[in-house]
Amino acid sequence: MRIANSEMGTANSELTREQILKGLEPLGTNGDSKLLTHLNSCVHCGLCAESCLFYLATKDPRLTPARKVDLVASIYKRYHTFSGKYLPGLVGARNLDTATADEMVDLLFGSCTGCGRCTMHCSIGVDISYLVSVGRKMLSNMDLVPSTLQSTVKAAIDTGNNMAIPTADFVDTVKWMEEEMADEVGNPEASIPIDQPGKRILYTLNPREPKFYPLSISAMAKIFYMAGESWTLSTRMYDVTNYAFFSGNREEAGLIANRLWKEMEHLQCESLVLGECGHGTRAFRWESPNYLDRGVPFPVMSSVECIANYIREGKIRLDPEKITEKVTIHDPCNLVRNGGVIGAQRFILEQFVPDFIEMIPSGADNHCCGGGGGMLSMSEYNERRIGAGAIKAEQIRKTGAKIVVTPCHNCVDQLIQLNAAYKLDVKIQTMAEIVAEALII
Ligand code: SF4
Ligand code: SF4
Repeated sequence: MRIANSEMGTANSELTREQILKGLEPLGTNGDSKLLTHLNSCVHCGLCAESCLFYLATKDPRLTPARKVDLVASIYKRYHTFSGKYLPGLVGARNLDTATADEMVDLLFGSCTGCGRCTMHCSIGVDISYLVSVGRKMLSNMDLVPSTLQSTVKAAIDTGNNMAIPTADFVDTVKWMEEEMADEVGNPEASIPIDQPGKRILYTLNPREPKFYPLSISAMAKIFYMAGESWTLSTRMYDVTNYAFFSGNREEAGLIANRLWKEMEHLQCESLVLGECGHGTRAFRWESPNYLDRGVPFPVMSSVECIANYIREGKIRLDPEKITEKVTIHDPCNLVRNGGVIGAQRFILEQFVPDFIEMIPSGADNHCCGGGGGMLSMSEYNERRIGAGAIKAEQIRKTGAKIVVTPCHNCVDQLIQLNAAYKLDVKIQTMAEIVAEALII
């Protein structure tokens, strides 16, 4: 692309010419009709504003979804349209310079979880979260991903898991949980298999589990045990997350996804079961064919669907008198709105929870908790993240529930923090945890 000096930003711009050219690459549409359509369609009706937790919590017009669309579209106009090149002020076209890049980081990383609720509510179907992801890709090309998020990606690439947990520590935790599980099922021989080839299922989990919530591991192990499942964990690749999906770096996202693929080949398992992680499920199951330019040749399902199948097949039974408190569900955006896994978690709870209440709205229209999009790893936005969580906190409070179940460890972390910040007095559990509690041994 040829760019005149006047298009390269202010004289004191800190971005190099090379950075700007790389940043503009994702907008070099080459006839990408999807990108062109969504970049040029917003009619500024403003209807998407009320769908976004960041706007709803602050009423700051700068944080509306339309503002995020405008930001990316204004750069496109500057470099790819006649009026934007010659009359930029008249058509709201902007140079990709330091000020613009700073605003992009603040709005696209710091004020958006990519939850996609605005896309559902746009009056004419602009894929707003897709445009946010294009903007994030531009920033990634310019090496402007917030360092906190990038260090999480780097840990995953360098060590095999995003929390850089040493393998020996992981194995120790699993062995400790194996003892817990064996105690609970009353069989000292009950085990949590590690690195065992030829099993039916390879199971992955969120590194937050061995690091902070090891009982989630024993909960799912207990379910596998009671179902008589043939399964294994892997020490080489057990991390279900893929934070490069959030940072916008397609190559790094592909590298992480490919490791999981390779581990399936290495261990010769039949199916991959992805642990409770919304974005991790989306990043591998639905997005990895885009990163890797090939389809996934083995069956992949979320652990929630796996548990629902065990119930349908009569492999596990649940005690309907065990959970006596009112329960509600928080739907993780990437699993539910963006992945369509809506019924399985409700089917599971119907089997043994007598007092269940939906949030309003719920399912595909549910409000994001505020912890997605890499927000949990970007500590510089902590205050904003907890502030935006006010919408979710209010939803929970209105249900009167005492237990909030969510099939995503990122959501669990955010909800635990919201529980403390907004004094909700609820218990937060994953689906495996509440099911394991009610299992009839
Ligand atoms: S994707 Fe979610 S967080 Fe981002 S602008 Fe849309 S509604 Fe707001
Ligand atoms: S609802 Fe759609 S068309 Fe209306 S302002 Fe939002 S993005 Fe633009």
